[in-house]
Amino acid sequence: MRAAVLFGPRDLRVEEVPEPSPADGEVIVEVQAATTCGTDVKMWRHGHRVLPPYPCRFGHETAGVRIDTGERVLVSDSVACGACGPCRSGRPQICRSPTWVLGGFAERIAAPAAALHPIPDGLPAEAAAMAEPLAAAVHAVARGTDAGDVGILGGGPMGLMLAGLLLAQGRSVTLSDPHAARRRQAEELGARAVEGLDDRHELVFEAVGRAEAWREAAAAAGVGGVVVLVGGCPTGTEVSFQAGPLHYEELEFRGSFHHSPEEVDEALAVLAADGALWRTLRGRTISLEELPGALRTRSRGPAKKWVVDPRRLPA
Ligand SMILES: [Zn+2]
Ligand SMILES: [Zn+2]
Repeated sequence: MRAAVLFGPRDLRVEEVPEPSPADGEVIVEVQAATTCGTDVKMWRHGHRVLPPYPCRFGHETAGVRIDTGERVLVSDSVACGACGPCRSGRPQICRSPTWVLGGFAERIAAPAAALHPIPDGLPAEAAAMAEPLAAAVHAVARGTDAGDVGILGGGPMGLMLAGLLLAQGRSVTLSDPHAARRRQAEELGARAVEGLDDRHELVFEAVGRAEAWREAAAAAGVGGVVVLVGGCPTGTEVSFQAGPLHYEELEFRGSFHHSPEEVDEALAVLAADGALWRTLRGRTISLEELPGALRTRSRGPAKKWVVDPRRLPA
């Protein structure tokens, strides 16, 4: 079968590889759609802590069909150990030894049955694949509060997903992004869009992943506000904050990482109920062979996720 194989930083080749052989508890899934995200770009550019040694496979937003039962499934990108401290206290998203399930950029993938989630009827595979990042947005919203007035920093896929979820709950959302095309996407979802967060908000989400953005999110929090930090910064990043507001205004900072299996099912239900989010984020459908070029493309336009369909043959 064909698979995208990462041989080193920026060295991605599509190769003929042996068929996956399922280990105990694993099943084979025929991939129909694997969406790309910022993490894939990071993995391609300089590796990532969850990648196995080179040469390795990646692609973690994967939807397809179980070969054994014919059921349509989303392949979640991790299975928590169930035994560590966080797992035992009901926080599988920060499991200390999860099994990562990577390799969606291939015709087939062997995945633990525990990583599979049934796709609701009528939801296309390319939309279902987005349930993986959307589940992280569902988790981030749960890490926040029920404040009616929310600010979001960043109009990439994560910021827009957060906006969609919060708007569906009837909250008032202001999203900031320097790119006009992304502000337009936020407005189409029903948010107010600005170039930089000007007002202060009861609840602020940071969805950029840079030290300046973390500071800006903190500065945009109103008195007694909560800041949810969703964007992952490069390893080793240090962020400094004004101590005053943290103390005198009792600001609260909360990290948000990943998702639980229940949040993946919730994300699938959200996508099945309302097509607006995946329609705005859906980018071009490409073959495996077009993936290296797609990862090299830096977009200043709208936030889009490429949809890799490994069944497509090179043009
Ligand atoms: Zn992702
Ligand atoms: Zn665990």
